[in-house]
Amino acid sequence: MNKQLLGESLHAYVRTFGCRANYSDSEKISGMLAEMGFGFTKNADSADVIIFNTCAVRENAESKVFGNIGSLVHQKRANPDLIVVVCGCMVQQEHIMTKLHDTFRYVDLIFGTHVLHEFPEMLTKVIIERKRIVNISENHKVIEDLPVRREFAYKADIPIMYGCDNYCSYCAVPYVRGRERSRTPEVILGEIRDLVSQGVKDFLLLGQNVNSFSYGFAELLQSIEAIDGDFKISYMTSHPKDLSKDLIDVIAQSEKISHHLHLPIQSGSNRILQLMNRGYTVEEYMSILQYARIKVPGISITTDIIVGFPGETREDFDATLALLKSARFDSAYTFIYSKREGTKAAEMEDPIPAAVKSEWFTEMLAVLDESSGGAYERFVGKTLRVLCEGESRSGKRLYSGKSREGVIVDFDPRASSGEDIIGKFVNVKIEEALKWAVLGSVQLTVDN
Ligand code: SAM
Ligand code: SF4
Repeated sequence: MNKQLLGESLHAYVRTFGCRANYSDSEKISGMLAEMGFGFTKNADSADVIIFNTCAVRENAESKVFGNIGSLVHQKRANPDLIVVVCGCMVQQEHIMTKLHDTFRYVDLIFGTHVLHEFPEMLTKVIIERKRIVNISENHKVIEDLPVRREFAYKADIPIMYGCDNYCSYCAVPYVRGRERSRTPEVILGEIRDLVSQGVKDFLLLGQNVNSFSYGFAELLQSIEAIDGDFKISYMTSHPKDLSKDLIDVIAQSEKISHHLHLPIQSGSNRILQLMNRGYTVEEYMSILQYARIKVPGISITTDIIVGFPGETREDFDATLALLKSARFDSAYTFIYSKREGTKAAEMEDPIPAAVKSEWFTEMLAVLDESSGGAYERFVGKTLRVLCEGESRSGKRLYSGKSREGVIVDFDPRASSGEDIIGKFVNVKIEEALKWAVLGSVQLTVDN
């Protein structure tokens, strides 16, 4: 059967776990499915093909996936034609692939992060030849020109690099995503130019450490900035060891680059940062943070913190609390350390009981609440330019979007005089600061 027609009248359900890199891969999986003729459903019960694109960063993400796969047993029994696919970071780990293969016999296709481009061939074989396929072979080339089915018309995630070479001692990413490799600026700029001409107004550049982009990250940002059009550019994730003051100067002078820096610190203890192999000290981190706040007034700085790293003492943990108090992040993603097989940290002594880690975690949330609470007060009375993304989840007939600082802005759209403002920039006067968002109302009218 022709591969292009294989999916005709069949519906796929694609579920993504984990970070934006995974969501970006899922857009390619969906693009390939669409080219094969598949339709899409948001309801797994009525799907002909179910795809789980998985995450390996923490154990609870993996447990969730196993739970979801386990719950398909009845559906597969009732419909033996159902195709179950599990792919992504989690299955790139040999021990997980083996467990999946041996324990969940009804999973038809298992493939890792390096063979995404072979998905149509693998799926075709599974459907036509009715055989199970497992493929976690490695391939460190950058594959271009895969079709992408984007979820939104006005915003797009653009991977600029894949993999990671940093080997933070707790992290599975370098093992499951492979060595760091960058796309060329020409290809990235070409893709962005095309999307700008199609009306995309919000670009998120993706990489595990965008600051080590092989061809110069600051130069890439400047070239994107020079593309004609009204759009904004953000990026994640910045690694503190590679973030230069020059880059902050570029941001300060730019019209289009986001005033949001996601700068994971992970710990406030230099001893733990060293054990984590992070490559910077708290003092170096704080110096970058202060420089950014001086050069880019109002900049929003968010971070990631891990609690309970092997051997962390109360003293180390207190240093993290002290850091949170002095750094006053806009917000922080917080995690309890999760042991990842094959990493350096997995071999370290880890004497702190889980109950103590949980207590520390709760204590840290309270400190964060205090240190970040009120951070958004600085926007009250100001007018922020916001890309309207649709109705707010608050259910109060407000609209919602993000400002240049990456802050969620919920607003009353009435002054926009009934225009369709979704996917457009509006100016919003901020009247109130909440913990996770600011509230305001549209000023004048839609500005483009
Ligand atoms: N590349 C980014 C960086 O360097 O910050 C982030 C990648 S990782 C997918 C996102 C966050 O997950 C990390 O910043 C870290 O805080 C957290 N993380 C990674 N491995 C973890 C582990 N084993 N246990 C707990 N949290 C972890
Ligand atoms: Fe993981 Fe560190 Fe690479 Fe981020 S920089 S993906 S935390 S190894």
